[in-house]
Amino acid sequence: MEEGFVADFTHGREQLTTTTWIEGSAEPSIWKGLKTRGRSSFPVETYRCTSCGYLESYAKG
Ligand SMILES: [Zn+2]
Repeated sequence: MEEGFVADFTHGREQLTTTTWIEGSAEPSIWKGLKTRGRSSFPVETYRCTSCGYLESYAKG
């Protein structure tokens, strides 16, 4: 397991967002300018259990 954080990016006028996992800790400078250069990032896929609604997320590389 490695440390990272989850960020949501809004696309244009759409209300949908893309959830992305980014390696490392979420420093203030990251949030300010979203400087993610040099860091690994992966789109987050979330699966829902149709029985109980439990969510499980994967950030596949
Ligand atoms: Zn379940």
